[in-house]
Amino acid sequence: MEQEYRKTRTTVSLINYHFVFCPRYRRKVLINKVEERFKQLVAGICQENDWIIVAMEVMPDHCHLFLNCLPTDSPSDVMARVKGVTSRRLRQEFKQLSHLPSLWTRSFFVSTAGNAKKLQAIKKSKDKESHWMKDQNHKIRRQIVNYAISNGVGVIRMEDLTDIRNTAKSKKTDQGRNLHSWSFYQLKEFIKYKAEMFGIRFELVNPEYTSQTCKNGHQARANRNGLKFRCKECGHACHADVNGAINIAKAISGLAS
Ligand SMILES: [Zn+2]
Repeated sequence: MEQEYRKTRTTVSLINYHFVFCPRYRRKVLINKVEERFKQLVAGICQENDWIIVAMEVMPDHCHLFLNCLPTDSPSDVMARVKGVTSRRLRQEFKQLSHLPSLWTRSFFVSTAGNAKKLQAIKKSKDKESHWMKDQNHKIRRQIVNYAISNGVGVIRMEDLTDIRNTAKSKKTDQGRNLHSWSFYQLKEFIKYKAEMFGIRFELVNPEYTSQTCKNGHQARANRNGLKFRCKECGHACHADVNGAINIAKAISGLAS
């Protein structure tokens, strides 16, 4: 699809933004009637503001929005408008959302996205990547659950990594975080579902310090160096992932709520 340059009295432009934003706590609320109404509202907002929807992909817990804008529209203004209106209206119209103080997190991802041809390519590679990730997650899930079944394991524990990247200092990592936590979330759901099917308990462990603490309870950031773990206090050394796994098994930082 070839896109036209947009002309105003004083400008000629072709500005496409790729936005990604999520409901608070990554709640999977963008489904069924809510999803339908959300799309309607976005269409209305964009029409009012002269933003052209190039593509919109709504997932239960996040939304990709490709908009063609004018040079006077800042990405922050666009997001504020889209989130503000949809948050207010959806919370008014759907009882299950009415108790939330706001529907969306305050953060968003945005990148410039070239022309529409490029957008198609992005979408295609995204689909490919998410298929690949899904396939990997199924393989991992199968191995873990099969091992547990054949060895009579009663509990499967995983670190709760859903929000771990939220604490990352750099906002630039947002896109990576979204992909990362999405694939982790998917793996977690796969394992949980299968484990419970076979009567295996599934628990999430608080990820704090699991990679920094030795078996004798000494915790220091410097204990971990890449794949190597070596306690500065007592000298205990092993593979960092093995050390982490033992701490997860012991749930040293407690279960995640
Ligand atoms: Zn130690």
